[in-house]
Amino acid sequence: MKPAEDLNLKNIVDRQFDKAAAHIELPTGLLEQIKICNNVYQVTFPVKIGDKFVHFQGWRAEHSHHRKPLKGGIRYSRMVDQDEIMALAALMTYKCAIANLPFGGSKGGIKLSPREYTAEQLEKITRRFTAELIKKQFIGPGINVPAPDYGTGEREMAWMADTYDAFNPGGMDNMACVTGKPLTQGGIRGRREATGRGVVYGLREVFRFPEDVKKLGLSGTLEGKTVSVQGFGNVGSHVAKILHEEEHAKIVAVGEYNGGIYNPNGLDVPALLDHFAAKRTVHDFPGGKPLEKGTDCLEVECDILVPAALENQITRDNADRVRCKIVAEAANGPTTPEAEDILLAKGILLLPDIYLNAGGVTVSYFEWTKNISHMRYGLLQKRVDASQRTSIVESVEGLVGRKMPPGVRESLIRGVDEQDLVKSGLEETMVTAYEEIRDIKVKSNKVDDLRTAAYISAIQKVGRAYLELGVFP
Ligand code: NAD
Repeated sequence: MKPAEDLNLKNIVDRQFDKAAAHIELPTGLLEQIKICNNVYQVTFPVKIGDKFVHFQGWRAEHSHHRKPLKGGIRYSRMVDQDEIMALAALMTYKCAIANLPFGGSKGGIKLSPREYTAEQLEKITRRFTAELIKKQFIGPGINVPAPDYGTGEREMAWMADTYDAFNPGGMDNMACVTGKPLTQGGIRGRREATGRGVVYGLREVFRFPEDVKKLGLSGTLEGKTVSVQGFGNVGSHVAKILHEEEHAKIVAVGEYNGGIYNPNGLDVPALLDHFAAKRTVHDFPGGKPLEKGTDCLEVECDILVPAALENQITRDNADRVRCKIVAEAANGPTTPEAEDILLAKGILLLPDIYLNAGGVTVSYFEWTKNISHMRYGLLQKRVDASQRTSIVESVEGLVGRKMPPGVRESLIRGVDEQDLVKSGLEETMVTAYEEIRDIKVKSNKVDDLRTAAYISAIQKVGRAYLELGVFP
C-alpha cells in the first residue's frame, strides 16, 4: 500500500522551496534562513460566551524580517493550527517578493468556526485577540500589519483597528495597523475585490502569450472560456463576477462547502451572487444542476479551474479527474505536490498561489501607504487631469470640426480617481510579476513549471535583501 499523502502545508511549502532552491546559488546557511520561520506567537485567551468562559487558541507567525513591516492575513477556521499559520506566513514572504512589495511575510489565525458565533461574540473574540497581539508587539503600522483572510473580512479589520487605536491613543498612523478595512475606517476603494481582480489580471497575462496558449489547445482571450470556481467567498465570488462582467468568460460551475451548481451553458452570475447572499448556499440555485459535494466542481470539464477555498483540494486522489487546461490557484495551497506532478504530466498550466493571489496584499500595500500619508489617492491630481484632458479633447474637436459622442467625451475627460489608480497599480504589479516569472521559466532549460519559477524569483530577491542588509557578509 502507498504511504498516505503528506497534507501538512508547512511540509508542502518547504518541499516547493527546496525544489526551487536547488537551482539557486547562495552562501551556505542563507537559503535555510530564507526558508525558516523567524518567530511564532501562540496564545490561549478566554472570552465569556453566554455564561461560560471559552478558551480560544490563536497564532501570529512572523516568517521573515528582511523587510518591515510584516504583512499577512488573519484566518478564522476550525482547521487552523501552528504549522498551517507558519506555512501561510512563508507564502506571504514569497508573495510579497514576487509582487515587489516592501514587506516581510506573516500570518495569523484563531481556531474557530465563525459560523458558530454571533457577530457580537466574534467582536469580543477579535478585540481580545488584538489586545494579545498588542501586548507582545505582534501588531503595529511599522511592525506587523494583518489583513482579511479565510473567515474574516472588513468587519474584523475594523474591530482590530479600533482596538489598536484604543490602546495607542493619539497615534497618527494607527489606522495603518491593519488593511482591508471598510472605507469609513481608512480602507481603500478596490481592496474588497483586489485578490479576485488580481487573479483575473494574472489569467489575462497567460492569454497575452499566444504561443503558451496554443500549447494548451486554447486560443484568443478569456472571452467565452469556461470556468469552474471552488469557494464563493471573498476571492471566489469576485473572480466569478469580474470574469463574467469584464472578460465575458462563461462560469459553468461554482462549488461551496455544502454543495455546488453546474450549467455547461454558463451560470447567471449576478443572480447566483444574489442567491448566495440571501441563502449562503449555491446548491439549490434554480439556474443549473446541483453538485453534491464542494469538491465536485473540481472535476467538471472546463478551460479554467479556480480553486478559491482552502488548501489540499486537488490531491493525488482526484488530480487525475481534473479536466481543465489551466488551474488558477486563487486559494493558498490548493494543490499538493503529488497532484501538481499529475496535472503537469497532463499538460495543464498551473498558475501558482504565490503569484496569482498577490492582488490582495498589493492593494493592502496601497491602503497602508494611503493611511500613513493621510491622503486619498487621486485627490490632488483629479481636477488638473480633467482640465488638461478637456483642453486636448476640445483641440481635437476644433481640428476635426466635430464634437465627440457624449459617452466617449466624458470617459476621455474624466480625471483618474482612487479606484482607477488602485486598478492601474494592481494591473502593473500582476503584469510585471508574470513577466518576471515567465522569463525565468522560458530562459531556464531545467525549470518547466511556473511555481518553481515563482519561488526562484522570490528566493533570489529575499536573498539579495539579506546580503545587502549585511547579515551574510
Ligand atoms: P472566505 O472565507 O471569504 O471564502 C471562502 C469560501 O470557501 C467560503 O464561502 C466557504 O464556505 C467556502 N468553502 C470552504 N470549504 C469549502 C469546500 N470544501 N469546498 C467549496 N467551498 C468551500 O475566504 P477568502 O478570503 O475568499 O479566502 C479563500 C482563499 O483565498 C484562502 O485560501 C485564502 O488564504 C486565500 N486568499 C485570500 C485573500 C483575501 O484577500 N481574502 C488573499 C490571498 C489569498
